[in-house]
Amino acid sequence: MSWVHDNIIKAYKVDFEAKTLVMNTFYDDHINKVVEDTDVIFTGYLAHCFEHEITHNIIFDIEEYPMHLFVKNESELLKKNKNHCWPICYKTENELIEYLQKNEYKIFAVDSSCGLTGRVIAKQMEIVVDQKAKEPAVDARCETCMDVKLYEQFSSPGMYMACNNDLRALISSGGFELTSDSTPLDQIKNERGGWVDDTIRHVLRCKTCGQHFTCTVDTYHGGGSFRKGN
Ligand SMILES: [Zn+2]
Repeated sequence: MSWVHDNIIKAYKVDFEAKTLVMNTFYDDHINKVVEDTDVIFTGYLAHCFEHEITHNIIFDIEEYPMHLFVKNESELLKKNKNHCWPICYKTENELIEYLQKNEYKIFAVDSSCGLTGRVIAKQMEIVVDQKAKEPAVDARCETCMDVKLYEQFSSPGMYMACNNDLRALISSGGFELTSDSTPLDQIKNERGGWVDDTIRHVLRCKTCGQHFTCTVDTYHGGGSFRKGN
């Protein structure tokens, strides 16, 4: 899929002096937990014509539009805007095509699934993606995980066992998932009642807000905790 499919248009700005049109867009991938700030930068700008603009514009795609198709399919648009010297002052369509080709202009079609559509005539289009992993704020806790009981410090094995029970209850509640587990929660002890590992670590994730919670236990030296974060 294209780099801008399903992106939301935050703003666009035309600088007639610098001959640029910059579209700031945003993409939020809930599944892969990625957000992208994507700029679509048109340089060597000549003209544009947008319509259907609303406050929530979602791009379907932005693609180069072959010149011959543009002139053939958009004759109404050209006719309507000709008297305004759009995109330039010209007499015949052939004259217009010749000018655009000679000056290496391209036509870009902005298609949307919602809102803004239109054409941009410019020499180049560049797409700059700034991708960030989507991590919840450190203190983010939602209704699901607000009441999760944290253990600042395990002062006894019994305290970890209580926490271990809490974790199992959280998982069976359906609101949490284990994202990492050094030892299965119900297999921390062997048949002789001893710890199976010197260190045990479980990481839980709140399915609603994505907040992680980490339980670490040092069964050899004693100690550990159940805290926010991973
Ligand atoms: Zn949560």
